[in-house]
Amino acid sequence: MSKKQIVPPILQEDALIRGILAERRILLRRFQPDMESMFWGSLAERTSNLINGIVIPATIAYIILGLVSFPVVYFLSWDSFRTHELYNLAYIYGMGILCLSSLPILLKKSFSVKNFYIIVGFVSFLGVLSTSYFSLQFKTPLVAQIATYDVILVYILIYFVTGMKPKFVLLIGGIAGLLSMLIAYLQTVNYDFVWYSNEEITRYFYYLGLINFIGFIVAHANIAKERENFLQARLLSLDKAEAERMGRELERLSREDPMTGLANRRFFNERMDDEWERAQRSGEPISLIFIDIDHFKLYNDCYGHLKGDDTLIAVAHTLQHILSRSTDVASRYGGEEFVVLLPNTPIAGARAVAERILAAVDALDIEHKKSKTEKFVTVSIGVSTYAITDEEITIAQLIHQADEAVYKAKISGRHRIREYHLMKPETA
Ligand code: GH3
Ligand code: MG
Ligand code: MG
Repeated sequence: MSKKQIVPPILQEDALIRGILAERRILLRRFQPDMESMFWGSLAERTSNLINGIVIPATIAYIILGLVSFPVVYFLSWDSFRTHELYNLAYIYGMGILCLSSLPILLKKSFSVKNFYIIVGFVSFLGVLSTSYFSLQFKTPLVAQIATYDVILVYILIYFVTGMKPKFVLLIGGIAGLLSMLIAYLQTVNYDFVWYSNEEITRYFYYLGLINFIGFIVAHANIAKERENFLQARLLSLDKAEAERMGRELERLSREDPMTGLANRRFFNERMDDEWERAQRSGEPISLIFIDIDHFKLYNDCYGHLKGDDTLIAVAHTLQHILSRSTDVASRYGGEEFVVLLPNTPIAGARAVAERILAAVDALDIEHKKSKTEKFVTVSIGVSTYAITDEEITIAQLIHQADEAVYKAKISGRHRIREYHLMKPETA
């Protein structure tokens, strides 16, 4: 007999993650689709929080950088170009501040992973295009070279802070960089705007190529690290979920009778204590119904223990079915004995429930050839109620009363209900 083992999803994912972590080189590759999109989602969320957190200090730092740059450019510029260079610098910083400050505003509007990458991608494209374009407009060679560092800075930010895929950065960064050069070139052709020599163009290409090459490689290592962090975090939360699940399962097992699924005696006692206390405070009556299957030993002897178990389960389910209030507790008290706790229920209510139980077990119509009572399985039921007007008793006494009522039901012919209070001398 081959039994297929059912592995809970948590453990399955746990094993999968441990496998990936063990085989480290996989971190450079994509995960399987579900996990891959979860990864980029979590990275987007984290980056979005990071951007929202650092945008104000970053803008301030950027403004300070701008304030330092103006006098530097002022002094380094050739006299004839000075005004043009300063204007150009103002455009660069203006665009930079626009890109920086628009990010959190755009991201706050509606956060979704897709929106995040579209917005960050678009703003990055704009950032590279404008920085690169304006830096090509400087006419003083030294200033133009310094401006190149600005472009490099923008690339570094995009590769390492935005959480975008390196190949995506390469694509949009590359297109924006080349586009800016194309525009500058066309201007040169059309307006005879020549300032850059071949050497300068070559150097620009070189910087652009180098930073993208390094950025691409290092960003991959960075993403691999992010993947590892993601897996570790996921593992932790899976462990936590598993521990919680096991805790819940243990608690359920500690409350339940494994065969019938009813509350066990321990849980019954707990609930009984609680309800008893509540009854004392509120003055509400509390009732117990004791149920004992008639001639069950004979049933086992005749049909076997396994059949006996089935019958116990059937009776248990019937009990559970009949109880309507969520505060009622049906429990397996012992072998073929059940007890039902009915909080806030007077004797009349308990009697009605007992009658329904008696009838419902009859209706199961389980054959019992050897029964001395009927030709089917029957139960004897004892009911006891405690009301605040009664003389004070203990929990144990109330249980004992119900038990005694069952005994009376047994000796007066079985397959019937007896109430404890009817047995008191003054009411009997
Ligand atoms: P009465 O009508 O007086 O209640 O007679 P009875 O035979 O039901 O009572 P008794 O207390 O003599 O026997 C109870 C029987 O219940 C004995 C035992 O074999 C059976 N029993 C108890 N627990 C289980 C169980 O988990 N499974 C099965 N199949 N039988 C059980
Ligand atoms: Mg018994
Ligand atoms: Mg019995």
